[in-house]
Order: sequence, then structure tokens, then C-alpha cells
Amino acid sequence: MAKPVVAIVGRPNVGKSTIFNRIVGERVSIVEDTPGVTRDRLYSSAGWLNHEFNIIDTGGIELDDEDQILRQVREQAELAIDEANVIIFMVDAKTGLTPADEEIARILYKTKKPVVVAVNKVDNPKQRDAIYDFYALGFGEPVPISGAHGTGLGDLLDKVAESFPEQEEEEYDDDVIRIAVIGRPNVGKSSLVNALLGEERVIVSDVAGTTRDAIDTLLERDGQSFVLIDTAGMRKRGKVYEKTEKYSVLRAMKAIERCDVVLMVLNAEEGIREQDKRIAGYAHEAGRGMIIVVNKWDAITKDERTHTMFTRQIRDHFQFIDYAPILFVSAKTKQRMHTILPKVQEVAEQHALRIPTHVLNDLLMDAVTLNPPPTYKGRRLKIKYGTQVSVKPPTFVLFVNDPELMHFSYERYLINKIREAFPYQGTPIRIFIRQK
Ligand code: GDP
Ligand code: GDP
Repeated sequence: MAKPVVAIVGRPNVGKSTIFNRIVGERVSIVEDTPGVTRDRLYSSAGWLNHEFNIIDTGGIELDDEDQILRQVREQAELAIDEANVIIFMVDAKTGLTPADEEIARILYKTKKPVVVAVNKVDNPKQRDAIYDFYALGFGEPVPISGAHGTGLGDLLDKVAESFPEQEEEEYDDDVIRIAVIGRPNVGKSSLVNALLGEERVIVSDVAGTTRDAIDTLLERDGQSFVLIDTAGMRKRGKVYEKTEKYSVLRAMKAIERCDVVLMVLNAEEGIREQDKRIAGYAHEAGRGMIIVVNKWDAITKDERTHTMFTRQIRDHFQFIDYAPILFVSAKTKQRMHTILPKVQEVAEQHALRIPTHVLNDLLMDAVTLNPPPTYKGRRLKIKYGTQVSVKPPTFVLFVNDPELMHFSYERYLINKIREAFPYQGTPIRIFIRQK
């Protein structure tokens, strides 16, 4: 189920990124070794009371000409209108209402989406009167906040959450495998999608989705249904922000959220780029299944070592997704294209695999006997028992005498032991440690 999306708009320096960071807060990264993923100010998951949502700081999407501030904020506001369910329109109590604020307001009038005005930098209660100016924007009662002190955020998020849309029905049956095709421009995503749809044994029913931004295609192969979420296909008409790299990342992230399995497409001719890592890191944190697809395999000169070298390079760059199988394909010559959907099906099964509790506990006890936890300050970690609490991705809780005694490297050892017995190909595994 897609979470609601909240976008923050406002001219530069009103405090968008300060508030973004406050709202995102200490979202603990599930893996410490995924660089830059959770700290990015662009897009993040967040929570308030029992609401889960995603938040975009449109100020993080910078457009080409930096000095054209008005054009920037205009584009950023349009992006918010296109992408968000609720918009936080941020203004600055210290400067009061400015022409740039009015310009943004004019753009936001065009949308029916809820807009909440947040007046930032109300650092003490005496300054609350500053909000009255901003009634003139025409979006109802402004909410005073302070990024510096963190005050008012509760009221702001209450108001935002009131406007969240009703939770939509899940669009597809539970047994349909949803696939997101992700990658930088030009790696061959569209070509891959077309080649998959053109495969003989695939039956394409129809193209769904008019309310969504993505183009979803339903297909069936050997009795298994799939939905292809095509990020290359979902282009808006002539928006400037479309050409920016950050926006394409944003799009990829939205598709990742709706899928079970990510096809991370790389271009054999170009190798691996920083952006690939960010997207892969996001898919990993979101707990999706993952397959790395190296496309354009026809286009490079190969000898008997090329395959091994490529594999090693990928493993070096993507250490945090060492579980992801790698396929070398060509959308152009159709080489190995027929292996993609069966692999997706395999990964989807692993992603949803449950280990019986007694098998898990036998496995844990064997692992501990083989390699007992080291002592820390004279005390030793004791694992009482473990249980699998969920799937997609497989998630385990281990009950121990004292969670402080669990060392990162020992946790990794246990995950490796689980993977030795149950390879969990293509899926991340999560472990939570609790006191018992
Ligand atoms: P953005 O350009 O809208 O993302 O704004 P920033 O978050 O970068 O903030 C711009 C400046 O305003 C920075 O110097 C912040 O430290 C400052 N700032 C942000 N929030 C507050 C606040 O609540 N009170 C005060 N006094 N300053 C703030
Ligand atoms: P997208 O932007 O990721 O959707 O990439 P496209 O599918 O539009 O492909 C970008 C370019 O790469 C096009 O010129 C394609 O013809 C070319 N291309 C795609 N797949 C292959 C492939 O397997 N081999 C070769 N040689 N070219 C390919």
C-alpha cells in the first residue's frame, strides 16, 4: 500500500530543510553501511503518532539556474502539486509575507490538494502574532512553528494528517508479483519492459492505472501474474524538473515503494554510478526483493574474464545487497531475457518465505555452540530464543538477556548462518533484538 506523500514548499531560507530533518528525526538506518541514503534531505519516510508517510523537501531538488529563484520555487511548487497528497507551504515569521510567498501561493491555488501554511521561526510565544499576516495567503489558519526549538511540529503534523486521503484498497491481489524497473536514464529500462512484454509465453492483459503516475502493465506467465511498474513510461508533459537527476531518483523511490521486487538495471557499457547506489540503498532499506540486471551485454567486447570481473565490480560497489542475484542480458538481442521473470518469481518466493520457529531455534543454538558470543565487560550475550515475525522482507526477533551485548558483527554472523541454511536469495533480512 502506498503511503501518503507530504511535500514541503517555500522560498529559500524559510527553514524547509531544518523542518524536514526535524520531522524525519532519528529514523534509524537499518544498515549503517548504506551511505547517504537516510540522510538525504530529498525524500524520506517519516511517522507521526500512528501515521506513516513519506516526505519530500522540494528545496532539495535544485534546478539549473540558481539565480532564478522565482523560477525555482515555481517549479518546486508544481512538483509538490504533482507528487504530494498534502502540501506544507512554509513561510518565515522573521521576514513576514514576501512577493515570492505570494507567487508560490498563486501556483498552489491551482490545486485541489490540501495546503497547510506553516509559519517558521516563531521561536518564542510572544512572536505568535506574526502568523496573522499569513491569513492573507488564503489557505486558512497558519500554524506557528520553530525549527530551531522544534515547537509547534505536533500541531502542524496533526493538521497535515487530518488531510491524508482515505487509505486506498490494495490495487492488486496478494499473489500478484509487483516489479519495479529502476535505473538511470538510457540504461534500457523501456527496451527491457518491451522485450519482457514481447516474450512469447507472456500474456499481457491490459494497461491499468490512470490515477497513479506510473504505467502499470499486468502480465501473466505460466499461471503467475506480474505487474510491471514502468518508471520510464511515467513522464509528465514538459516539466523542467523532469530533467533533473534528483527527480528521477524520486520517481524511482515511489515505484520501489509499490513493488515486491526491484529490477535494478545497469548499463554494461557505463558501469556503476553513484546514483545507482543510492537507489539500490533505498530499495534495500525499503525491504524489497532485488535483482541486478546488467543490460546491453551485447554491446561490449568480452573475453572469458569479463563476466567474473563485472560480477566482482558489482559486488564491491553494492556490498549491502550481496544477496541480489545478477543477470546479464540484452534487451536488443533478447539474450537471456527469458530468465528474468522466472528469477523474479524465485526472489518473490524467498521474499515471502517463513522458517518454522523450531527450525530457526535449532539453527540459532547450533550457531551459538559453534561460535559463542564474545563477552563484553565480563558479561556474555545469551540468546533465549528467536522467532520470525513477518515476511516481505523476512524479519526476525531474537530475545536475549541484554540487547546492549549484541555486537553488530555477531548479528551479521547470525544472519549469515540463517542465509547458509535458507539462502533467501534476492531478499534482505531484518533482525531485531529484544530483552527477555
Ligand atoms: P531552506 O532553504 O528553506 O531549506 O532553509 P534552511 O532549513 O536551510 O534554514 C535557513 C536558515 O534559517 C538557517 O540558517 C537555519 O538555521 C534558520 N532557521 C531554520 N529554522 C529556524 C527557526 O525556527 N528559527 C530561527 N531563528 N532560525 C531558523
Ligand atoms: P531508458 O531510458 O532506461 O528507458 O532506456 P531505453 O530503453 O530508452 O534505451 C536507451 C538506448 O539504449 C536506446 O537507444 C536503446 O536502443 C538502447 N538499448 C537498450 N537496450 C539495449 C541493449 O540490450 N543493447 C544495446 N546495444 N542497446 C540497447
